[in-house]
Amino acid sequence: MAGVAFKGITKVFGKDVKAVNNLNLDIKDKEFMVLVGPSGCGKTTALRMVAGLEESTDGDIMIGETRVNDVPPKDRDIAMVFQNYALYPHMNVYDNIAFGLRLRELKGFFWQLLNMSEAQKIKKDIDSRVREVAKMLDIEKYLHRRPKELSGGQRQRVALARAIVRKPKVFLMDEPLSNLDAKLRVQTRAELIRLHRQLGITTIYVTHDQVEAMTMGQRMAIMRDGLLQQCDEPEKVYAYPANKFVASFIGSPPMNFLDATIVASGGTSFVDVGEFKLPLPAEHPAASMVGKKVVLGIRPEEIFDAALPSNVTPTDANTITAKVDVLEPLGHEYVAYLSVGMLSIIATIDNETKLKEAQTSKFTINLDRIHLFDAETEVAIR
Ligand code: ATP
Repeated sequence: MAGVAFKGITKVFGKDVKAVNNLNLDIKDKEFMVLVGPSGCGKTTALRMVAGLEESTDGDIMIGETRVNDVPPKDRDIAMVFQNYALYPHMNVYDNIAFGLRLRELKGFFWQLLNMSEAQKIKKDIDSRVREVAKMLDIEKYLHRRPKELSGGQRQRVALARAIVRKPKVFLMDEPLSNLDAKLRVQTRAELIRLHRQLGITTIYVTHDQVEAMTMGQRMAIMRDGLLQQCDEPEKVYAYPANKFVASFIGSPPMNFLDATIVASGGTSFVDVGEFKLPLPAEHPAASMVGKKVVLGIRPEEIFDAALPSNVTPTDANTITAKVDVLEPLGHEYVAYLSVGMLSIIATIDNETKLKEAQTSKFTINLDRIHLFDAETEVAIR
């Protein structure tokens, strides 16, 4: 087992495409780390450098205590699972899983050169490892089938089995679930988490899907334009996004952003968005920044129908009046599209609500959970 470290890793393609820009990231031994970000942010390139499929322009990649920049991919003791897993179509599931092991343990096709009892012993060992992994992934009954006789989800499990059976030091996974339908994706997500708990193998998992990142990662590293934006536990990233980009990327529906100015009156500082203003606690660093342009961030789930009981008591300070433009029923809740003058705000509202479209009503904002970002740098102020 081993951790993985990116130490000042930069990758430039051609003359000026900086796919990864001075990445410093420590992935601990046995950790499940998710690299997440929009298309083109450099996450696949970062992963491919750990695999040895791409050379870094600058910096060091460490697996355990070893600098692996010059170690060939086959000697890095990693296993990769991709979105487009290529199973051997002419082999059955058993042989697909066993193939890599045979190459490695039986020295490829030269196993006849080993003495008979040694070869038998290795073959028996391979057989028990293949069956053990097949059982773990619930594909034992398909061992004799060819890939084309399997569903997409079963094929993906074979690809996983093939990676797991090698007991690598590190797993690298690049969007391994994106070919699966929504239901299977949720199931396989849970399966991967369970497998990681069981095997405890250091895993780097690349996805552009923030829900996967939130649910699977012990920590998540959010990238944008080759630059690491924040790395922390999912709950902490959600509660304390480092900047406006992270805040907008994590959470669904996305956070509301309103241009605002810090103002003061009667000894209290407020975030003033024009149509309404919210008080700031005296100890908030923005409270002393009177005149500063900021962006106010409010998550839709921190806005409540004031007529319903919630853990936020409506007061003059935290309650606004808004018109309900559209109410989208989701079954367990509504997504409400509100307007306050010229401002548009999204709120998720409990399905007990009596709100009606086109009506004006009162909404309470959880002042303990508002976010402020510097309007210029977009960095969080807290
Ligand atoms: P996606 O989710 O779309 O796969 P990603 O975050 O994994 O995106 P990368 O594939 O790492 O992003 O690409 C990062 C940047 O590097 C992009 O601008 C991409 O166009 C560029 N890039 C990647 N591979 C190459 C290459 N072989 N040659 C030139 N540019 C490349």
